[in-house]
Amino acid sequence: MYKVLTKIKQKILTPRKNKNLLENTILFDTDSVICTDNIGTIIYLNHTAKEKFPLLNLNSPIQIGLRTPLFYEAFDNLKNASDNRMSLEISVHNPSEQNFDVIMIKSDNAYYFRLHDITEQKKSHTMHRDFIANLSHEMRTPLASILGFIETLQGPAKDDADAREQFLNVMYAQAKRMKSLVDGLLSLSRHELNKHIYPTNTIELSEIIADVTITSQPLAKPKNIQITNKSDATPRHTIGNRDEIFQVLQNLVENAIKYSNNDTEVTLDILSTDENWVLSISDNGRGIEQQHLSRLTERFYRVDDARNRKEGGAGLGLSIVASILSRHKAKLDIESEVGKGSVFKVIMPKI
Ligand code: ADP
Repeated sequence: MYKVLTKIKQKILTPRKNKNLLENTILFDTDSVICTDNIGTIIYLNHTAKEKFPLLNLNSPIQIGLRTPLFYEAFDNLKNASDNRMSLEISVHNPSEQNFDVIMIKSDNAYYFRLHDITEQKKSHTMHRDFIANLSHEMRTPLASILGFIETLQGPAKDDADAREQFLNVMYAQAKRMKSLVDGLLSLSRHELNKHIYPTNTIELSEIIADVTITSQPLAKPKNIQITNKSDATPRHTIGNRDEIFQVLQNLVENAIKYSNNDTEVTLDILSTDENWVLSISDNGRGIEQQHLSRLTERFYRVDDARNRKEGGAGLGLSIVASILSRHKAKLDIESEVGKGSVFKVIMPKI
């Protein structure tokens, strides 16, 4: 054993092996590493570079596989610069847009390029920025309205009992809107935190869908919407968190009621495929145009912004649904026809 260890130690410490270690590190680096001569002919490229830029080849010009004018402008500048190092950020259509932090180093007549992929980082930065912008926008509207009414009540409408009554009602509705927005955000962030933890409990779906049917009745009553559960009580088991699946179905039924006209019907059902349970919530409401379907689970996304804002939705319900389903390894499928209605399907694995 001691002998083997000494051998390995010697190998690592010998200059030749050290060079191999360095070469291997670069070869398997998760950044793309490319070396060229001073006219841009490739003399070395590592695995990541080959993977990310399949058109790059040894002994051929780097320009063939990496078409970014900014990159070559910097390369030319570096050739003539007294400094031997340059860094820049580039975006490449490869074929979808990808972003890289690039370091270029000049050494004698060779050039070393290291491209660090920052595409995901950029995406999450953009998402974060959009999230803050959307949130401020959502909060600002009810807050401005509440502040406006308070000022009116303190000033011109100070002694007007009717106006006070009316304004207080509006302020109450706006404050409730803000509360539901904050509740939605807290719920979303809680589910996002657990997103990668797969639940362990066995749950029974027929019972949950029956429960949702009953608890949604008060919501449907003012619009005279009939809620019908077509599934029977046969036990249908899956792995999941009961409260969360209840919340998913409840959100979908609430939407079906919210986006349907009076005197219509919302139908719940459970179908069976070889591997899955398919829970469906169908309405004969206003329907959704096809181009919106893939975006409905984005935070704050609303189809008809002005109209739906009035109806009270912040556009968080379906992102909460998607987040819960992702942790359950379940899927959401949406079919819809404008003017006819929508079917939201939750597809959960059988056990
Ligand atoms: P909201 O709080 O606005 O209801 P959701 O995330 O639950 O947010 O839904 C996003 C958007 O999807 C809604 O604003 C609405 O435009 C559309 N939508 C959701 N469910 C339905 C449905 N059953 N029928 C028609 N449109 C719907």
